Amino acid sequence: PLVLGFETSCDETGVGLVRGHTLLSDALATSMAEHERFGGVVPEIASRAHLEAMVPTVHRALAEAGVQASDVDAVAVTAGPGLTGALLVGLAAAKAYALALDVPLYGVNHLAAHVAVDELQHGPLAEPSIAMLVSGGHSSLLLVPDLAREVVPLGRTIDDAAGEAFDKVARVLGMPFPGGPPIDRAAREGDGAAIAFPRGLTGPRDAPYDFSFSGLKTAVARWVEARSRAGEPVPVADVAASFQEAVADVLTAKAVRACRDHGVDHLVLGGGVAANSRLRALAEERCAAAGIVLRVPSPRLCTDNGAMVAALGSRLVAAGVAPSAPELGADSSLPIDVVGV
Ligand code: ATP
Ligand code: MG
Ligand code: FE
Repeated sequence: PLVLGFETSCDETGVGLVRGHTLLSDALATSMAEHERFGGVVPEIASRAHLEAMVPTVHRALAEAGVQASDVDAVAVTAGPGLTGALLVGLAAAKAYALALDVPLYGVNHLAAHVAVDELQHGPLAEPSIAMLVSGGHSSLLLVPDLAREVVPLGRTIDDAAGEAFDKVARVLGMPFPGGPPIDRAAREGDGAAIAFPRGLTGPRDAPYDFSFSGLKTAVARWVEARSRAGEPVPVADVAASFQEAVADVLTAKAVRACRDHGVDHLVLGGGVAANSRLRALAEERCAAAGIVLRVPSPRLCTDNGAMVAALGSRLVAAGVAPSAPELGADSSLPIDVVGV
């Protein structure tokens, strides 16, 4: 079946087309630049931008896939979590297409979609797998017995998400928003062992699968502040690399531990932070040493896009999960263990 997916949970208007596990098109419009001077996504601006970008983005997705709207067999849409106003634009569009084409509508969880997207590149997910979702608003370790029906949360961040930490540290270093890409670039010229930043929640009595990045963020800010106050130059590349190393170290150590504790030898990464080059390299290294098969989508598919929603929709269709009710609504804080709404 041909599945049309809509993603509008944040600042990306994503429309994708997927057939089975095959990615046909992935059209994207972003209002990122309009938020930059505010240092974060402004919900009102994002909603309006989705509204303006929606129809052209759908047309681009259909053209790139070389299909007609009438070929579509099912529609999938992010129902949450995310910004309510932004989600509503995607829901309205998805409902309109489902109704007009007389095909079923599947409301899906944005976070599960970040995991499902990997199937477009690496085929069906081994089940069970451990999934580590690291994005702008979430950081979680999940046990995935069945991506279409059952996702079990093992742990999550108790304060900031990993992506949020990248964004805040970038701000401290005078880099643009979102901070992940510029930190990743700066870190390539730096030494990850230059500064010993704290590794949150890694003590023997700490929750093994929970994360904390707020202390790390504060430690980086204090370190930079102290340097500046002393009138010394801030070694930006070393700070970026050492911060990035602390994040990658904790994430990979906990993910490998979750695999080992649960007797699972497949790990999949998802979410914007999974685009990070050091995280990818360290995960590769540690998984190889532990005999774990690692799967990470290409960086382009790690950040928000429409194909990931179509990928999860395709999974739900194949599994025979019931479609959503026509009154499907947005849930800004949809729990991570709800896959289809
Ligand atoms: P959520 O998925 O939790 O709703 P979101 O959709 O805003 O949040 P994503 O688009 O998945 O998040 O990811 C965006 C985040 O990923 C930002 O915080 C950004 O800084 C981070 N990010 C993107 N590329 C990189 C990178 N190369 N290194 C580290 N972080 C990155
Ligand atoms: Mg975004
Ligand atoms: Fe996301």
